[in-house]
Amino acid sequence: MKSMILSDKISSLQMDFAAHCIKDAESIAIITHQNPDGDAMGSSLGMRYFLLSLGKTNVANIVPTLYADFLSWMPGAEHMIQAEQQPELAERTLREADLVICTDLAEATRVASMSGVLAERFERAQQEEHKYSLLIIDHHLSSVSASCPHQIAYPDSASASELVFRLAYQSGKLALNADFATCIYTGMMTDTGNFSYNSCQPEMYSIVAMLLTTGINKDAIYDKVFNSYGVDRVRLMGYCLYHKMRIFPEYHAALITLNRREIYRFNAKSGDMEGIVNLPLQIKDIYYSVFMREDKVPPHQKQEAGNANIKAKISFRSQGDRPVNILAREVFHGGGHMNASGGEFFGKVDQAAAKFQEVMRDYLLTE
Ligand code: 5GP
Ligand code: MN
Repeated sequence: MKSMILSDKISSLQMDFAAHCIKDAESIAIITHQNPDGDAMGSSLGMRYFLLSLGKTNVANIVPTLYADFLSWMPGAEHMIQAEQQPELAERTLREADLVICTDLAEATRVASMSGVLAERFERAQQEEHKYSLLIIDHHLSSVSASCPHQIAYPDSASASELVFRLAYQSGKLALNADFATCIYTGMMTDTGNFSYNSCQPEMYSIVAMLLTTGINKDAIYDKVFNSYGVDRVRLMGYCLYHKMRIFPEYHAALITLNRREIYRFNAKSGDMEGIVNLPLQIKDIYYSVFMREDKVPPHQKQEAGNANIKAKISFRSQGDRPVNILAREVFHGGGHMNASGGEFFGKVDQAAAKFQEVMRDYLLTE
């Protein structure tokens, strides 16, 4: 039997680059994507704990939009700068940091109102003398070139949190502690649906084994994330499944939409709608699921939205060899992974749904 040691997934070139970035930086700002999920939170908070363990003292975590209640218990979350509530502080921190680290994020457009400042930091890092001022740790199929030195980008990795772990591990400076382990474990767990998909790689479990040696309670973490819904959210799930789910049997597809009135009625915040898209996949012979929710067009998208003051935020999920990222990219200005993508549509959610039905034939497989 082969003994399990973690392979050096991150190239030595990337490791050297990251080490250089971190060594030279006094102030560091870590930012992750808007509507942060467990992996966005876990990778960015875990990165901060790693940097603190290296003796860095000026390390800030920025979240573009508020995180969901079911992630608010995560260690370090209370220190996060929330750009919606503290726009000036967030902007100044991001602008002035010696080093910006993006985790679970590789595109400046995915940070809501911070997009302009982050785009400037991306731009600046293109200059040779500032090349060590940006580090990206991500697992999305991103639009930035894979050969870019700033990027530790591995789309075959199940989570950005795993990459943060690997970075710490490969650096030889990993001091495992419970806070770091809790963050990384949460990210790995949420991006794999509690290790039910994207979780065939044996090394993932070697990492989990190492994390568990810190004494963290994985069942308690599961409970906090998955068994902590409010009554409104559970009723909303029931409403979606009973009243709002449309099935297209010939395409093995399900579609759920929520308009502003319905969202208001169930008092739902964006985090409360996380995961609804996965529910229809429990149905036998349903391989595609689409969830659309209406939202106001935020100020930073006004120009892009033209006349529309309302938009639909869309989540796509699929199973097996059925890509949804092409549909997300070509029709709904989005992108993502083969089986989990997202996009948006400027207009009402019903119009977005009509658009989806119109293009279904071109993008969904019938077998
Ligand atoms: P979710 O449905 O959970 O919001 O997003 C699932 C995945 O789709 C994300 O991890 C991300 O890769 C991708 N995604 C979601 N929204 C967008 C978007 O507006 N643009 C792009 N490029 N990708 C998105
Ligand atoms: Mn992720």
